[in-house]
Amino acid sequence: MMRLFIAIPLDGEMLRAALSVQREFSRRGVRGNYTPAENMHLTLAFIGEYPEPEDVLLAMDGVPFPPVALKLRGLGAFGDLWWLGLERCEALEGYVRRLRHALAEAGIPFDRKRFSPHITLVRRAELPARASVEIAVPEAGMRAERAVLMRSDRGKAGMIYTPIG
Ligand code: NAP
Repeated sequence: MMRLFIAIPLDGEMLRAALSVQREFSRRGVRGNYTPAENMHLTLAFIGEYPEPEDVLLAMDGVPFPPVALKLRGLGAFGDLWWLGLERCEALEGYVRRLRHALAEAGIPFDRKRFSPHITLVRRAELPARASVEIAVPEAGMRAERAVLMRSDRGKAGMIYTPIG
């Protein structure tokens, strides 16, 4: 079994912007599990434990990726997990819909929660009393050319994501 998810890895200006917001969190004394630069990504579909990555690659091959322009927009939290949001992108939403449909057609299980695009910056965040996380999100974007199947493993020093295919 492998723990699998399909994602867009961050790069360039968008990655630098995400790292700069993390530095602001850190400067304000926020402790937690900060996503390392090499792990920064946008998840499109979470498959979880599944034994056949080849099946997933095959399903992905049937869904052409439309190059999309991503733009950061806003900062938010799910409980103690803080994330950066993205501007709405219909081309990306369409791709995610077709991708998830292809996974379902192939009998590949995935988390069916509504697509809620976010880039996780820090998990299990502990904010110092009276800390403000009113942090301006830099204007930054990137052009995404492809989605990548990732394997997720628990390493000694945190999660290790490995691209497959
Ligand atoms: P991960 O759980 O493998 O998640 C990889 C990506 O998939 C992340 O973007 C995550 O979103 C997303 N995701 C995870 N579960 C999801 C779900 N049910 N529905 C939709 N999206 C989902 O790796 P991680 O996020 O780096 O690790 C987070 C925690 O999972 C860690 O505390 C780790 O201990 C725990 N965990 C890992 C393993 C493993 O073997 N890899 C097994 C069990 C538990 P978010 O960024 O929003 O989290």
